[in-house]
This record gives sequence, C-alpha cells and structure tokens, in this order.
Amino acid sequence: MNFDLTDDQKMLRDTAAAFAKKESPVARKRKMMASEAGFDRDVWRQMGELGWLGILFPEAVGGYGGTMVDAALVLEQFAATLVPEPYLASAVLAGTAVLAAGDAEQQRRWLEPLCAGDSVVALAWAERDGRFDPTAVTTVAERAGGDWTLAGQKVWVLAGHAADVLIVSARCPDGIALFSVDRGADGLTVRPVQTMDGNRAAMVRLDGVRVADDRRLGDPGEAAERALATALDWAAAGACAEGVGVCQAVLDMTVDYLKTREQFGVKIGAFQALQHRAVDMFIETELCRSHAIEAAIRCSDGSDPDVRAGAVSAAKVQLATGGKFVSQQGIQLHGGIAITEEHDIGLYFKRMHVLNTLFGDEEHHVARFAALPSFVEGIEA
Ligand SMILES: Cc1cc2nc3c(=O)[nH]c(=O)nc-3n(C[C@H](O)[C@H](O)[C@H](O)COP(=O)(O)OP(=O)(O)OC[C@H]3O[C@@H](n4cnc5c(N)ncnc54)[C@H](O)[C@@H]3O)c2cc1C
Repeated sequence: MNFDLTDDQKMLRDTAAAFAKKESPVARKRKMMASEAGFDRDVWRQMGELGWLGILFPEAVGGYGGTMVDAALVLEQFAATLVPEPYLASAVLAGTAVLAAGDAEQQRRWLEPLCAGDSVVALAWAERDGRFDPTAVTTVAERAGGDWTLAGQKVWVLAGHAADVLIVSARCPDGIALFSVDRGADGLTVRPVQTMDGNRAAMVRLDGVRVADDRRLGDPGEAAERALATALDWAAAGACAEGVGVCQAVLDMTVDYLKTREQFGVKIGAFQALQHRAVDMFIETELCRSHAIEAAIRCSDGSDPDVRAGAVSAAKVQLATGGKFVSQQGIQLHGGIAITEEHDIGLYFKRMHVLNTLFGDEEHHVARFAALPSFVEGIEA
C-alpha cells in the first residue's frame, strides 16, 4: 500500500495547516466555545470558497472529486489547532450520506450549497437506545397522501444545532430510509447541547413532521443501510485523522515543555524517564497515523465494505488506546499546570475523548472487527 502523498496532496495539507495556524489558532476555538453557535458561518463560507467542503463530492455538485485521504489531510491539520467549524459532522458524515443514498438531483440539491459553504447539513442517525448501531431505528415514517410524516427522536446530532438541513433515518414499511428535513419544519424541535470538547450538537424531536416524497433519498432498506454504513465508516476514518492531528499537537507541545521547564536546576527533559515517555508518545502517534491512513485509503479505493470496516475499526481501536495514552501523558508531563482551564492541553485531551466516542468506542470496534468474516475465517481455519 502506497502511503506517499502526491504533490497536490502536499499542497492541500500545507494550505490547510497554514490556514489553521494563522486564521484559526486555539485562541479562536476558546472564543467560539463561548459563542452561541460554536463556530463562524463566514469561516465556513471561506472553507467552501477554498474548495475544502467539497473534497469528497463530484464536480457535478460543485465538489472537488477528491478522496478520503485528501479530506483526512485537512482534518488532521484542522485538529492541530482545534478548528471549531463542523467539517467532520457536515462535510464528511452528512455529505457522504447524501452522496451514498441520494439520486443525482438530490445530491445536487443538498450538496451544492454544502460545497459552497452556504449551508450546514447534519446527519441524525443515532437514537437513545441504539448505542452505535445505525439500524437500531425506532423513528417511523408513515405515508400521508403522497407525502411522509416522520415521528421519533434522535440524539447527539453533530452540528444539528446549526443545520439548515437534517438528514434523518426513519423506518418505513419497506425498511430504513433517509429523509431530508429543513430547519424550521413544523413539528421539528432542535435542542442545542454542548459536547465535552466545547463543540455543539442537538437533541432532535420529530412530531409528525411532513416531508414530500422527493425528500426520501434513494431506495429504502438495504440501499439506505449501506449508505449509512458508508457515511459512518468515512466519518470514523475522519475522526481517526483528527486524532492524529491531536496526538501530534500534544506531542509537540509536550516535547517543547520538557525542553523549557526547569526543575532541580535542569530542564526536566534531561531526565531519561521523561525522554522514554516522550518516545512512547511518538510511537503511539505514528501507530495512530499509519492506521488512520490505511482507513482513509480503504474508504476511497473501492475496497469491499468488510475490508473497509476492518481498517476503520482497527484505526478506531488504535486511537482509543494510543490516542488516549498520548493525551493522558501530555497532561501528566505538563504537571500541575495541565489541569488548569487556561492551559490548552486540556482542550486537546477533551477532543481526544470525544473522538474516541464518536461513531463507535473501543468496545464497539473490537467487537465489530472480531465479527468480520475475514477474522472469523482466520480463527476457524
Ligand atoms: C489545583 C492544584 C492543587 C495542588 N495542591 C497541592 C497540594 O495540596 N499539595 C502539594 O504539595 N502540591 C499541590 N499542588 C502542586 C502539585 O503537586 C504539583 O503541581 C505537582 O507536583 C507537579 O509539579 P509541577 O506542576 O511543578 O510539574 P513539573 O515539575 O513541571 O513536572 C512536569 C512533569 O515532569 C515530571 N517530573 C519532573 N521531574 C521529574 C524527574 N526528575 N523524574 C521524573 N519525572 C519528573 C513531573 O512528575 C510532572 O509529571 C497542586 C497543584 C494544583 C494545580
């Protein structure tokens, strides 16, 4: 497998890194955390103009026709300074669901404004008792004349608080389907909530929300389930890419601190015990990176869905162990200052915690990996 970046990918990575560093340093994240929306619509539009929001989508809808590796490069750079715009939630998770489930007209209708940065789209897939299973859907869609009415509840809808359009999974008579619901639709209640990392999500209620038939994306049943599985795998791969950005930032900050902080008359980085810890952090970061790259490649290279799922779950489990280790050691090695609100290291720790929970935690992904045919056959052989 070739992990080398093309010249275009290097340019994309460097531009995203420069943008994050200059336009959106961690101080901006703190400012946005205190704001109502948690991010800035103007910056979202700017990201659209730069082509970043359309990376995963075809040129026909205003996208750039790129791959998950391209999007992963951007996500990793954004994570390094905790860029607060809902890139993962909207330009990866929700957008991919529309791409995978919708027909050409539906893709154009909802992806064009997303690519341009004119709209935020959110995917409402999770339910209270569903854990990480996208097929555990109790929200129902019933026929009402030529239309549909939707009823049910969705939880932790990432970027749902600001979404212009919600893509909602619901159970029809012929299986699960995805529907698009506009913000402000009658019967739709969106309650904003804050996640642990200072980002925003929403708890959503649908009380007989009426939607037209052309608001149902593609075919119900197997096709919709496949679309949801694709979107969640791509988003999980994106979370792993962000995790790499967080690990690298924590490692850089910590090594810097070890080189400057003096105790007992010397820089604390002079102690071999602490150097060993920094090396362990570096190794875990590189392991997360390798797994995240493979997951991103497997999302876009036409791999069998089981191969893709295996790579994504492996990357998620590596992040859950390695990413947790790196972020915990970052706190430990900074000593007492790390547990103050004012120090940035805690923000990275919290982001890592959220990334490790999104789209399946460690337990979920270990179980999913162990149930894959390739793994089971390997044991039985
Ligand atoms: C809210 C708060 C409450 C506190 N309350 C108390 C209290 O009640 N009583 C009290 O005594 N202290 C208290 N402290 C201080 C706390 O014990 C120190 O912050 C802690 O000992 C870490 O020291 P430091 O922050 O100076 O870290 P640093 O000295 O900067 O050390 C950074 C890291 O390097 C490690 N390290 C440093 N030198 C070595 C070495 N030679 N070998 C291996 N590892 C090394 C440290 O363990 C730490 O993980 C408190 C601190 C805070 C923030």
